[in-house]
Amino acid sequence: MKKGLLKTNGAPLQAVEALLAGLLKKGVVDEVLVPARTGAGTTMLSLFARPELLAGANPWSPVMPVQGGRAVQQLTFTDPGRRVAVVLRPCEARAAVELIKLKQITPGNLTFVTVDCPGTFELKAFHDSGKDAAAVGAELLEAMAAGAPAGDGLPFRTACTVCEHPSAEWGHLRLHAFGAAAGEALGVEAEDELAAALEKAGLLAFDGGGVEARGKVVADLVAARTKARDALFASFQADAKGLEGLKKAFATCIRCYNCMENCPICYCKLCIFKTPTFDHPGELYARWAERKGAQKMPAETTLFHLTRLNHMASSCIGCGLCDTACPMGLPVATLFRSVAHGVQGMLEYEPGRSLEDPIPLTVFREDELEEESGAFN
Ligand code: SF4
Ligand code: SF4
Ligand code: SF4
Repeated sequence: MKKGLLKTNGAPLQAVEALLAGLLKKGVVDEVLVPARTGAGTTMLSLFARPELLAGANPWSPVMPVQGGRAVQQLTFTDPGRRVAVVLRPCEARAAVELIKLKQITPGNLTFVTVDCPGTFELKAFHDSGKDAAAVGAELLEAMAAGAPAGDGLPFRTACTVCEHPSAEWGHLRLHAFGAAAGEALGVEAEDELAAALEKAGLLAFDGGGVEARGKVVADLVAARTKARDALFASFQADAKGLEGLKKAFATCIRCYNCMENCPICYCKLCIFKTPTFDHPGELYARWAERKGAQKMPAETTLFHLTRLNHMASSCIGCGLCDTACPMGLPVATLFRSVAHGVQGMLEYEPGRSLEDPIPLTVFREDELEEESGAFN
């Protein structure tokens, strides 16, 4: 990896816009996927082919309406045949890593650009606040010199308050804002081949420098978030203990599937819950009611969550998009993250860390789970 600085001259977002536009102008890539202001004034992930339209690009947009990993999957499930730079937050990049390993993303033509992330706000709350996304994004970026700022009257999404992977540690090109005086410069890190291409194109210089304060700022933030995570899991597990506790916590689930539809890791094109397997004949519901005295409709909400957990707990990257998508305000991400935390620890697997670590359910290890299974006791 090569390290350097992107000089920002008092306008960090514009400097990043210029860098992304330069990638297109100099032919380093053909298209760029990045959050950007739309004509309607909202901020959405958008795919740009023309550099002059990149004004309004904002990798530090304060909202995450869709998961970038999922958007990259849509774009590259089949190879788009164009070289695309995709600008992602750490949780989006971690989802992309899992999706590459699950053969849902064709990575050959992709350049991953990742950014340090302070956190994001709930979409509706941010929209209702009337705040300007570009102005808030710029404020957040500035405040990242000292870690993750408080949300200026709006709380960050719960998943962000317990996110212990907020820094850009993976990707071909990484933009480092933690610890940086963003008005002066952002840190940059690039894989050797890309760094050489960027230097040749006159877009960046890699002189070996970087953001000196970043290590401590990131370490302090991760420690605080990890503490908050452990407290959240402990309180959730106390409230939703056992099957009855889980049923109570998710009693208002209407099985709309929004959590599943917006989860980057739930990638099956045809989920078993959308097949005739769960289109029961009326007679069956009537029999259940007769046997138990009453039957809640929709039925099988707990089975839905347990099945989804069983399928993806080892790869949940904790982005919290399931929370954002739930119309009933249920703590879906806290459930998935707290179960996933245990499963991932047991399987010694950290999703999204590296393309080289095989997903546990895709490999067999003879010594796996010896203690848990009691095989040799
Ligand atoms: S979960 Fe982490 S990486 Fe994702 S938006 Fe929140 S703070 Fe950023
Ligand atoms: S989004 Fe909420 S209400 Fe809909 S299925 Fe998921 S948990 Fe249930
Ligand atoms: S279950 Fe929720 S937190 Fe986990 S990857 Fe899916 S959307 Fe993100």
